[in-house]
Amino acid sequence: MQKRTVAFSKNSSNLFFHILTKCNLSCKHCYINKDQHGEETLDIETIKNWLDIFSDKKKEMNAIFLGGEPTLHPDLSLAVKYAKKEAFKSVTIDTNGYLFHNILDKISCRDVDFLSFSLDGATRETNDSIRGKGSYDTCLEGIKRSVAKGFATSMIYTVSGDNIDELPMMPDLVKNLGIKRFFIQVIGIRGESSKANSSQVSKEKWLKTIPEVAEQIAKSGIIVTYPKVFLNRDETFECAALVSDNFFIFPNGRVYQCPVCEDFPIHSFEIKNNQLVKTDKVNENDLFSLSIPEGCVMNKLFQPDNLKYDKNGDPEYKIACCMLKQEISL
Ligand code: SF4
Ligand code: SF4
Repeated sequence: MQKRTVAFSKNSSNLFFHILTKCNLSCKHCYINKDQHGEETLDIETIKNWLDIFSDKKKEMNAIFLGGEPTLHPDLSLAVKYAKKEAFKSVTIDTNGYLFHNILDKISCRDVDFLSFSLDGATRETNDSIRGKGSYDTCLEGIKRSVAKGFATSMIYTVSGDNIDELPMMPDLVKNLGIKRFFIQVIGIRGESSKANSSQVSKEKWLKTIPEVAEQIAKSGIIVTYPKVFLNRDETFECAALVSDNFFIFPNGRVYQCPVCEDFPIHSFEIKNNQLVKTDKVNENDLFSLSIPEGCVMNKLFQPDNLKYDKNGDPEYKIACCMLKQEISL
């Protein structure tokens, strides 16, 4: 079994491209905030123009198409083909599994590196209570269709207090599905999560559950990735925004470097007239270099309940950058 921390690197940058915010589902923890990110659907010419903005970096850049639900976009197939033709390092579609507009018939395995499906429970009951009635069956059906057509297929499981107890059932569920990768994410307090009082997971429960389940899933030959979340006081903290290029683009033109900031108008850049321009101070970029004993400065600002202090007032642990991942594989 191989375990490694995936270090941030200038040579591995990510373009998280929200091409629309519309979705057919209304998940309890949805991170989309239409007050901040608008309700536009970008047309295909704009999508191409915005991909071109990053043309000098595209060979090191993974393009991830997201929404809302990206398959609701009638021209998603053209967008992914364009990104592939333009030689982005990899192209991924993140979907809830409904696969609108017959997307699987309009693209081939040569056009995308991964199709990633979100499932948030090992049982129909739990998943559908979070993501909506029918979404469990639809997602699993979508995965089977994707695998049958030969697409490299992965699954994303966003862990919260509502579904962590079902995570140990996932190794059995996924072992014969034919997926290549399994991504565990942690619920952030953004979008709907911030309103819904969605349950965060304690450090103890996270550490007791996640590494063990990851190892079980990896035993079936699936590569598992999960966020590190907690660092001991003596572990080195690094902010991805200072080391690598990650851009979270929304259809109203906002471009963030840190996903924890997405509920606030403190984005580093905006796209105006198809150009990436810096926003005025003060924005997220002015905060990344602040060094605090708690680790991630945005976590301390926006999610302080994740922290614990000892009797001397020192943090018991640091919160890692939300983009710092552990990877485990056979
Ligand atoms: S989390 Fe994804 S699938 Fe669920 S409502 Fe939000 S955009 Fe749609
Ligand atoms: S999550 Fe924290 S550490 Fe990571 S990019 Fe944002 S501010 Fe930096």
